[in-house]
Amino acid sequence: MSQDRNVRHILSLSGGKDSAALAIFMRDRIMNMEYVFCDTGKELPETYAYINKIEAYLGKPIIRLNPDYSFDHWLQVFGGFLPSPLARWCTRQLKLKPFEQHCDDDLVYSYIGIRAEEDRIGYISHKPNIRPVYPFKEDGITKKDVISILEESGLGLPEYYKWRSRSGCYFCFFQRKVEWIKLKHNHPDLFEQAKAYEKISNSNGKQFTWIERMPLSEIENREDDILKKHEDSLKNRVRKIPNRPLGQVFGAIDEEDDSYDPSCIICYL
Ligand code: SF4
Repeated sequence: MSQDRNVRHILSLSGGKDSAALAIFMRDRIMNMEYVFCDTGKELPETYAYINKIEAYLGKPIIRLNPDYSFDHWLQVFGGFLPSPLARWCTRQLKLKPFEQHCDDDLVYSYIGIRAEEDRIGYISHKPNIRPVYPFKEDGITKKDVISILEESGLGLPEYYKWRSRSGCYFCFFQRKVEWIKLKHNHPDLFEQAKAYEKISNSNGKQFTWIERMPLSEIENREDDILKKHEDSLKNRVRKIPNRPLGQVFGAIDEEDDSYDPSCIICYL
């Protein structure tokens, strides 16, 4: 490796709680940190608002990285196949590529907010010049600490946490059925836009839906049932963790949600 190669420190914010807490945690530790946000153009309004809030708190610009081509362009390229857990072209094209382009060939230390108790590496760049750094793991920072960091800073949690457990695109296929319903309640326009992406052809039986074999219209029809099941499962979980501060209850509930998240680090942390 060339001796005169640029060395950079970059922290990628997703709009989620872990990367936000990491930004606060690192603010006075690495003075020349670059903060970036890979904007798919399909994020929730709450995410954009939270990024602005973090920027104000840090007192440093957060560089918005936009992909060369939009989601709609790539959807056409992929023949109308909506992204899915097994074909996650969205993360590569809209998040990872812009990040890698921004890093160029510099030696980049990429700061990632995986917590001490988490056993995962995540969906990260494998370019040899981009080296992941895990400060929370190194310092034993757990979910409880992350919530304390956010509370003590005054930044708090992103607003969408009131109804959804992850940042990322409004139509993200990783969201649970109840989160689709809550998307409809909180952002009916975005729910309709997500629905408009689905293609259900009766002639050849091909379906392009966000949830396998279940169009969003069916989610709407089953709304009462989905909400009831969710409320029942919440009651059961809260019953198991009585007399704890709200942050911990939230943490315990969120923990369970990790089961459906196959480590979309750049999207969710
Ligand atoms: S948030 Fe979901 S839909 Fe958006 S890029 Fe990440 S995996 Fe894809």
